[in-house]
Amino acid sequence: MTTETSKVYFGSIQHGKIGEFASLGPKVDKIVELLDFTSIKAGDKVAIKMHLGYNSGYQTIPVYFVRQIVKAVHKTGGYPFITDNPTSVYNAVDRGYTQETCGCPLIPVAGVKDKYTYETKVNFRGVENFDMGGVLHDADALIDLSHAKGHGASGYGGAIKNLALGGYSRPTRWAKIHPIAYQAQRWDSKKCTPEHAKELAKSCGYNAIQYDEKKHKLIIDIHECTQCMECLETDRDVGCLEINQESFTLFQETLAVAAKQVLERFDKDKRFFINFMLQITPYCDCLGMAQPVVVPEVGVVGSRDIVAIETATLDLIAKAGLIEKSIPPYFKHVNLDPSADLHPFQRIHGPMKNPYLATEFAEKLGMGNRKYDLVEVLSPEETMKIEPPKTKIERQPTFF
Ligand code: SF4
Repeated sequence: MTTETSKVYFGSIQHGKIGEFASLGPKVDKIVELLDFTSIKAGDKVAIKMHLGYNSGYQTIPVYFVRQIVKAVHKTGGYPFITDNPTSVYNAVDRGYTQETCGCPLIPVAGVKDKYTYETKVNFRGVENFDMGGVLHDADALIDLSHAKGHGASGYGGAIKNLALGGYSRPTRWAKIHPIAYQAQRWDSKKCTPEHAKELAKSCGYNAIQYDEKKHKLIIDIHECTQCMECLETDRDVGCLEINQESFTLFQETLAVAAKQVLERFDKDKRFFINFMLQITPYCDCLGMAQPVVVPEVGVVGSRDIVAIETATLDLIAKAGLIEKSIPPYFKHVNLDPSADLHPFQRIHGPMKNPYLATEFAEKLGMGNRKYDLVEVLSPEETMKIEPPKTKIERQPTFF
């Protein structure tokens, strides 16, 4: 652990004057300038790892900002490309992302069949290898361009999750990374009859209890579980089930382990992180659906430290708070008690989904620093004092 702090540049959605100069676009340019892409060399292949959404899940990073970042990479002489899982790349056009609109190619992270991978040694919790997306693995520089939002399993999804789940092939994502969390679940199969297991499954208002009668196997789907503890009422006389912190914690530790492997592919001076806190939805972009926005828009942050940027993002979201009237009705146990020391994402997804856990593990793994200096660019206070540039009124179409 280091005593130094890392810089996190922040551009607020709030502006001090009506004028383009005070709005988010110029703030993104300023942040990119401060991040200093000059360590990207001419000819470098620059992976811009995004989550491009899925089906009608369009609430991702607006293509306008993606273009700005792509243009900045072009200026270095590097060759940017956007990458994500194959399906999200193939149907990205439905959400406005194409080579023409973004300004660079969109390439599936693990090839056209999701099979172009590199075996990456992890030796974590009995899992020897993860299969990293070969396209990401081959790049010379990384821009981890993330949409900050809620996430069912970890409470929050941002820069760490973008690499940890999005940097690998589907089999690693679903058959290796997600199941590690289940190792920590406690269910006593001998104490539990099939009838009782079915009662437990029925008792959960979130369909989080999955019971396979043939195998007599029960798991808690951590993505769905809000730790309401109602199933434990049903289990009171049997006592075969636990809802424990460890399985939620283990998932976030796995995210940090997986993201670290991706980061280590890149020299320190060729890693950049940008998080957009716009359209902050309760669940991840991969659900493929429009969702209500549950936190007011905050803006954008950029850093060269993945741990610092994630911590700052979570702090800024905490400061913004929840838009209570936008919380979907299927969250039946939202904790809105102001005296409860909970992050907004814990209030909706449950107290055990502390979204800071992944950053704590990431810091322990040497990936960065949770201490940060927030440097605001073009703050509303600053732009209030700036005389806006004279704008010409368009008298006829200019075509540019
Ligand atoms: S704690 Fe609540 S949400 Fe979680 S499995 Fe039990 S009943 Fe379902």
